Amino acid sequence: MTKQIIFAITLLITIGVFFYTVNRLISFFKFTRPAFRVTDFGKRFLVMMNVAFAQSKIFRKPFLGFLHAMVFWGFCVIIFGSIEMVIDGLTGTDRALQGLGPLYSFIMASGDFFALHIAMAIIIFLVRRLFFHIKRFEGIEMKERSHRDANISLSIILILMLSLLTMNIGYLQHQTLTGSEIVGYYPISKVMAGLFAGMSAEGFGLMFEISWWVHILLIFVFANYLPYSKHFHVFMSVPNVFLSRLEPLGKLPNMDSITREVKLMLNPETAFAAAPADAPVERFGVKDAEDASWKNYFDSLACTECGRCTAVCPANLTGKKLSPRKVMMDLRARMKEKGPLMVKNGRDFSDNRSLLRDFISEEELWACTTCNACAKECPININHPTLIIDMRRYLVMEEASAPGELKAVFSNIENNGAPWQYSAEDRLNWAKDLEMRV
Ligand code: SF4
Ligand code: SF4
Repeated sequence: MTKQIIFAITLLITIGVFFYTVNRLISFFKFTRPAFRVTDFGKRFLVMMNVAFAQSKIFRKPFLGFLHAMVFWGFCVIIFGSIEMVIDGLTGTDRALQGLGPLYSFIMASGDFFALHIAMAIIIFLVRRLFFHIKRFEGIEMKERSHRDANISLSIILILMLSLLTMNIGYLQHQTLTGSEIVGYYPISKVMAGLFAGMSAEGFGLMFEISWWVHILLIFVFANYLPYSKHFHVFMSVPNVFLSRLEPLGKLPNMDSITREVKLMLNPETAFAAAPADAPVERFGVKDAEDASWKNYFDSLACTECGRCTAVCPANLTGKKLSPRKVMMDLRARMKEKGPLMVKNGRDFSDNRSLLRDFISEEELWACTTCNACAKECPININHPTLIIDMRRYLVMEEASAPGELKAVFSNIENNGAPWQYSAEDRLNWAKDLEMRV
């Protein structure tokens, strides 16, 4: 009973702190702008199965992709055992879900198998991070904190897997040595038990008990560490893929405010009906975190900081300052900075800082070729160009600020109806002396 009470209190504290933190992050969504309407649930489900569960984008790099997929699939299976541990901890039962029979044995065997393979994958990830100079993990946005965060998270996952294995070994050997029934099947632990030959039944019992507590307490700690870490994607990546933008990558979303202006010119009555005269004047484009859409903010929370986007960005590869990963990380950091101030003082609050310039420079924004390689490569379907374009839209439409070459193009379009420096009537001059059949 004492164990159950301690467990229940620990679980309550874990859930309480977790929901407090997550609720804080979610509360910032109310400051963001609308993006698209979430429809086409069937199509979204297929995208989620393909990109999130089948890890299709991750497999573009076969070896590392396979390791990452093993970790993801392993977590999906192991979570079943964690749920059972919570039920056991609260009710005092022993293997509460054993009634599932052969399915239970299959899930336990899979969890046992994945625990070892996840541990091996994590060791490879850690070695790569600590001892190899991997370009994808570097960059101006990758501060010391980012590296520390990744290493802490990976170490926690490693201890989680090792404690799961020692828990299984302890259980298996304790039951065997005391002649008790073994519930479930544990192929890997059975082999690894040989490493502990000579240990007594009491020793294995203690091993099980300690591993059980280490494992479950670490899950509680990890769950509360995640919202402060890049590994928050453990919770956010699957929903983010489900909420992917389904339109072709190259299609830019129209600006509602501009669409309204055009409608107003074409048909004043309809437009007035759609937008009341006392509607607040909207800012064109994105200057600060609250101008970004809910999807941009969702993307930023889901970003794993893996750097696959930056690794394929032609601007970054040719030495420009732009890094699409940084764009996402900056939006998240800015919302984290300004969100609590807006909660306290309202959406219009200004701290005399902004996402534009204090976090992302004009130079970075104009370096983007809008090739969409970043969005295509991102394993969780984050779309960077929509945010970059919206920040450029702010610069052009609110500040008339653009590189000189673009300003010339804009004025040519305004004066000549074409991007070139001559009038529309002269457009076909180049073909004047050509022999052409009319
Ligand atoms: S769309 Fe822009 S940010 Fe993305 S890869 Fe292309 S140049 Fe880089
Ligand atoms: S935006 Fe996507 S590809 Fe880029 S770092 Fe984040 S998760 Fe990785």
